[in-house]
Amino acid sequence: MTIGEGALSSAPEAKFLGKSAASVPANTTLLRLRNMRLHRAADMPVSLHKPITLMWALGRIACEEHHQVRWVQFRDEVSPLLDKFGHEKSGVTPENPVWYLRTDGIWEVDGLTTADDRVPSVARLDAVNPLVGFTAEAAADLGAPDVRAAAVGYLLTRYFSHADQNALLARTRIAPNDATDPSTTKVPVPGTGATDEGVPPGKTSTKTTRFKRDPAFVRYLKDLYDNRCQVCDATMRAIDGRSRSEGAHVRALQEGGPDSMDNLLVMCATHHVEFDALAIHVTDQGDVVATDTGETEAHLTFRPGHGVNLEHLRYHRALCVRDEHPDIPQPPHKGPL
Ligand SMILES: [Zn+2]
Repeated sequence: MTIGEGALSSAPEAKFLGKSAASVPANTTLLRLRNMRLHRAADMPVSLHKPITLMWALGRIACEEHHQVRWVQFRDEVSPLLDKFGHEKSGVTPENPVWYLRTDGIWEVDGLTTADDRVPSVARLDAVNPLVGFTAEAAADLGAPDVRAAAVGYLLTRYFSHADQNALLARTRIAPNDATDPSTTKVPVPGTGATDEGVPPGKTSTKTTRFKRDPAFVRYLKDLYDNRCQVCDATMRAIDGRSRSEGAHVRALQEGGPDSMDNLLVMCATHHVEFDALAIHVTDQGDVVATDTGETEAHLTFRPGHGVNLEHLRYHRALCVRDEHPDIPQPPHKGPL
């Protein structure tokens, strides 16, 4: 398969509540990202080579590394990602995204031109070994955490809703898997100011175990919201003094909901329990409604880089409000607690 030949196409657009696909911050790089054209060969799904390459490049920026590398490094680092996260039938051809991303206005391959702008051969790329990566303008835009979060959320939601998002975030180093594992975090020992690694004699070591380790994309989303509940804006505090929140699946995993960002809301414990117990539900407009009274209690807050698939919200709502969605079959559910 070759990018740049055959039909160009965008991935099918799902409907979202939130700011992931619908409205990203007014920013040139994000707009160009949204307008990115992807290759689709006949009888094949849209190629993920460009989105995978961009995730890798965003990981470099998240790690505060230079936005461009030599081709050989790009080839060695991106090829395994294309192999793991690309479509099964896609070949591993890093020369395609590295070359054709230039046409989207956010990427450059320094000092290499070809006749008719055709993709250069791997041998030529190896010989010239050009610098490749984001343009300086795109890198500067994406250096801002909120813009970068919007870009990551957009790519994840639009192109990787069925992928292993945890593995993708970890492998691209956007959200390393072991960065904030609470079970290994050294927390202050009360009254001593010491960590449990340097506990003075006679003092007892303290570790937090209340909050189990989250998958990478859940932690990414919690960070995006600074652990603030999307319903009430409250944050919880753990024994180590850090703020905490919970990730609430909209459509439960055991009812076929995907383990992905567009099926997740960040909540405090109270609203998480109420949501799971069907005591509250969310309208297509983001109003949080009490199921028993029908009264609107709050409005969901969304931050750029996150959106929830309306199909999942409707599924949850159908469990709460009978008859509202006769088209959705009533699934087996425990019902209100
Ligand atoms: Zn709350």
